[in-house]
Amino acid sequence: MPHRLVQLLPILLLLVACAAPVQRQVTRGLEPPVASPPASLDAAGRLDWWQNQLSGLGPADHAEARLLMGELHLELRESTEARQAFYEVLGAKVSASEMARAERGIGLSYLLDDRVGLAVPHLEKALGDLDMRAQGEVRYLIAASQGRTVSADLLAYAPQADNWLPSNHGQVQVASAPKDSNAPIQVDMTRAEWRAAPMKSNWDPMVTPYRITVHHTAEPFEGSSRAQTASQMQFIQRLHQNDKGWADVGYHYLIDREGRLIEGRPIDRQGAHATGTNNIGNIGICVIGNFVGQPERSAEYHVAQAPTQKQMATLERAVEELRESYDIPRKHVYHHSKFTGTLCPGPALISWVRNYSGNRWH
Ligand SMILES: [Zn+2]
Repeated sequence: MPHRLVQLLPILLLLVACAAPVQRQVTRGLEPPVASPPASLDAAGRLDWWQNQLSGLGPADHAEARLLMGELHLELRESTEARQAFYEVLGAKVSASEMARAERGIGLSYLLDDRVGLAVPHLEKALGDLDMRAQGEVRYLIAASQGRTVSADLLAYAPQADNWLPSNHGQVQVASAPKDSNAPIQVDMTRAEWRAAPMKSNWDPMVTPYRITVHHTAEPFEGSSRAQTASQMQFIQRLHQNDKGWADVGYHYLIDREGRLIEGRPIDRQGAHATGTNNIGNIGICVIGNFVGQPERSAEYHVAQAPTQKQMATLERAVEELRESYDIPRKHVYHHSKFTGTLCPGPALISWVRNYSGNRWH
């Protein structure tokens, strides 16, 4: 290959990556390449073995092999070679989880080079599609490498993850648990009281909360009794568990028409309310009701409700208490439409959030 082309390769790969649509192309998972190296070989031996296979592999197997080679280079702490391999994977058609492994690898290679600022964006990109163990490790690294406090639940990942931190890295600071990690604020209706179904297994641990996001359920509801609220909660949980495939209700707290504060997803579990990595450290509070008219749906959705005075009062109290429990600044209180293209939580709550937080996003 002419020398100039070799020099251009990283730029070409970058262009390919930039041209890719925002929605990742998820192709079939790569099948494992035809064979794997003999178990007796060490990392350097396995690398040589793969190097010898490369020319005979088709494009999909080639990308898979480069991913494995990148991980072997990391094991040998060869950051530049590792990065080269991972960038090749990003330029190929691979599945979302393989893309995430390559992003993680690029992030780790930069950590080895002591370039935290370059590492963190790649680690954050990887988060959504890694398996749970790798996710925990990457969350730990994102916090620890930037000198942020690490929540206690992530400490389990420290023994392996610390290998990637630059050698001059100081002592990792551990966040003290909130007063009572399961109940930082008093609720008016617990999960047991609304007869929640058990949580499914596909949840992630919550890091120490550092932001709060306000939603509406987008489901018309006028009920005022505790029984009506309880059955509405079961309805929302079914929507989230069965239709959306989530572990549980997406929000940590909900507020019914009478202003009762209701326990949703336990606060030590990451929520599912703001899309992907936006959920990290993000407490979801949902005001029950439909505050945006939805003309494309059936008649009961057409007219927007207004949140009640009691709901607004509870919202303000809950946000204040959560901010105090976790030391969350006022400007870290958001509305859902800040994160994704949605009308949630509707104009009334959006304007409340704007006034409360002092932020003017749009
Ligand atoms: Zn929302």
